[in-house]
Amino acid sequence: MPYSFDRFFINGLWVEPKTSDTIALENPATREVFTHVPAASPADAVSAIEAASAAQPAWAAVSLDERIALMQKALEIFKTHREEIIRLEALELGAPISYSAVSHCDYQFTRTASYIEEARKVALQEEFAQSTVLREPVGVVACITPWNYPLGQVVQKVIPALLMGNTVVLKPSQHTPLTSFLLMDAFERADFPAGTVNLITGRGAALGDTLAEHPLVDMISFTGSTAVGIKLSQKALTGVKRISLELGGKSPFVWLESEDYSPAVNQLFSSIFLNSGQTCTALSRLIVPRKDLERIQELLLSRLPELTVGDPLDPATKIGPMASKVQYEKVLSYLELGQKEGATLLCGGAAPEAGSGYFIRPTIFTNVKNSMRIAREEIFGPVLCILTYDTVDEAVAIANDTPYGLNAAVYGPREAALAVARRIKSGNVYVNGGPRDVTAPFGGYKQSGIGREGGRYGLMEFTQLKAIFDR
Ligand code: NAD
Repeated sequence: MPYSFDRFFINGLWVEPKTSDTIALENPATREVFTHVPAASPADAVSAIEAASAAQPAWAAVSLDERIALMQKALEIFKTHREEIIRLEALELGAPISYSAVSHCDYQFTRTASYIEEARKVALQEEFAQSTVLREPVGVVACITPWNYPLGQVVQKVIPALLMGNTVVLKPSQHTPLTSFLLMDAFERADFPAGTVNLITGRGAALGDTLAEHPLVDMISFTGSTAVGIKLSQKALTGVKRISLELGGKSPFVWLESEDYSPAVNQLFSSIFLNSGQTCTALSRLIVPRKDLERIQELLLSRLPELTVGDPLDPATKIGPMASKVQYEKVLSYLELGQKEGATLLCGGAAPEAGSGYFIRPTIFTNVKNSMRIAREEIFGPVLCILTYDTVDEAVAIANDTPYGLNAAVYGPREAALAVARRIKSGNVYVNGGPRDVTAPFGGYKQSGIGREGGRYGLMEFTQLKAIFDR
């Protein structure tokens, strides 16, 4: 049966929800409701968990070669949904199609292909002096994902979990669940065994306890806010379940004293302004030499016109609306707060001229102190804070003075930049605009998370070790 947004994918079938409750999806560019998805009840979640549990032993017994072959087939089918993925991310998230094509769609194909490639490099069996060490699946994995990279967060969990022999219950964000239906369609048409992968849609608060506490769930893989991650983990730990958490960030970008700062602007703007700043790794704190502040401000203001704000379906648009009314109001409240705290609003604010949706222009605060809430809390919008330093030690101290540690970047003379990169406490650091390596581990220090996604380390996250002493 073809996929349908009003059903769940459970045990290989598109099934009717056990509830009539639905969630309206609003197009944030127009404020119009364009479709609904079912809001699962705990009973729907239990059906999905039981299907995943029943399928798990047989799926674990399928050879890695066969799992890889099925995943390759699913990827080829999934790629035929390309245009639909791009369109749906414009509708449900407000992502401009130019950005969506690259980040929400093609990069997710690349990521999937990378997991397939890397799966063969995971040592599933190692011979030690007096034992054989096996890497086995964890079991049933509940994957809970946020709205800001709807497909990206799903791919980061579901693909490696399945490749390593786990079965999956996926609960994507209730705000942006649509591309997950297309992914299930690909699994179904690739002939994944019934129950290996299951999809329910619904509100986290209604389903969290069931997913975290059900005895047949072995692992919770969560991406989202730190507050929800902590709550969910506490529940999961009562059953000593495996937890992996990808949480928030307030990432620093340190600019070391340089003649010319312009080569760093593209990376800065892409990180903090594209996807309307709704990116966990957004470089939201720019830390610059005090003596060059004026020059840097002028440079940034001169480059801002490149970032056209408007209709996500227009190929020329770089920045669409915020994903929702809640997010729009949250960002506007931080703009008010920043001014009350004494920071200077250099540019930005609401952009009603861009359309009737939740549009906010790229916004820059300067004269920010790292003690201000706008510098400490994750705003999750297109809001850059500029902070200044007098010495490199001070720059490093400001960069590390945050409860988070997800991402960071450094720009400047290579050796000095590398030395600063080593001193920053975060899971990823980019130096002089180096591109992301899809096979590298991704994840946070401090309150940005537990565990890693991406490449071999991301695959190993969904395994557990067994030592057999046989000699
Ligand atoms: P969120 O925490 O509100 O929701 C994330 C998911 O958890 C959603 O599916 C939601 O339905 C579910 N949820 C909500 N309450 C729950 C509960 N009580 N029990 C179980 N599940 C529950 O986060 P969000 O607003 O969707 O996403 C934004 C956050 O995600 C930001 O903090 C961002 O930094 C973070 N994020 C982190 C990464 C990363 O890789 N580190 C990537 C993307 C987003």
